[in-house]
Amino acid sequence: MTGRVVKGIGGFYFVHDGDNVVMGKARGKLKRNKELIYVGDIVDYDIDANDSDGECVINSVIERKNYLSRPPVSNLDMLVVVFSLVHPEVNYPVIDKLIAACEQKGIEPAVCISKVDLADKEEIRMVQEIYSRIYPTACVNALTGDGIEDLTKIISGKNVALAGPSGVGKSTITNHLLDDEDLKVETGDVSDKTRRGRHTTRHVEIFTLSDGTKLYDTPGFTSLELTETEPSEIGGLFKEIREFAEACRYSDCMHINEPECGVKEALEKGELSESRYNSYVLMTEEAKKWLK
Ligand code: ZN
Repeated sequence: MTGRVVKGIGGFYFVHDGDNVVMGKARGKLKRNKELIYVGDIVDYDIDANDSDGECVINSVIERKNYLSRPPVSNLDMLVVVFSLVHPEVNYPVIDKLIAACEQKGIEPAVCISKVDLADKEEIRMVQEIYSRIYPTACVNALTGDGIEDLTKIISGKNVALAGPSGVGKSTITNHLLDDEDLKVETGDVSDKTRRGRHTTRHVEIFTLSDGTKLYDTPGFTSLELTETEPSEIGGLFKEIREFAEACRYSDCMHINEPECGVKEALEKGELSESRYNSYVLMTEEAKKWLK
């Protein structure tokens, strides 16, 4: 039989077969080979009602579409990068790096601007314009639930997790998305002093929403490490730069000092945002350090 691992705690795995959840352990062979089982994995398993270690035994993991290691999850369709403009203040290179890591791992990025009640309306409009040109983008006020419906539409039917800096309201947004009362995730007290939400999710668990969306509730992806990337490959992780680069005269153009560069032209015309371009330049510099 095959099913999806929806939770793992202390060596026990919870496998959802589409209707029911059964709990069990990995076969000794998997453990001996140090093969890891990630939440999100599709596994082959046998029902074993007489086993003292649970109701099922996992035989093998079906090949993953993608995976992230901290925390360990697999088979994501989409990662929603959540950030606020204030409390905490946005750090664009951090956000753009998260998005680039999604591109690298074959996970569709989406953007969620949170705490829109606290920030300047004009600033929100500008940031929304930058990202909505490239990716599905929602603006939410998690306190009132405003904008949650837009986010629900963006993630509908997908295997999805939220990522972003701590304190941006991921737990509160998660609570809005989980419409079933029993599923509510504990939300940390928000200290007025720091305005940072406490992390309260201690393990990864997948919840199925009423429209079939599979929401991975995680202790939080605050950053994702890019695997080592050649400086020349960074542009390919920025969706719009990838497209503007088609107009560059030189196929190995780095879009920094070269003449007849489609990316620099787009920047001058305002078709490419300065903050995205700055993040690209920073990441390219970082990638050059890897080479040394
Ligand atoms: Zn160029």
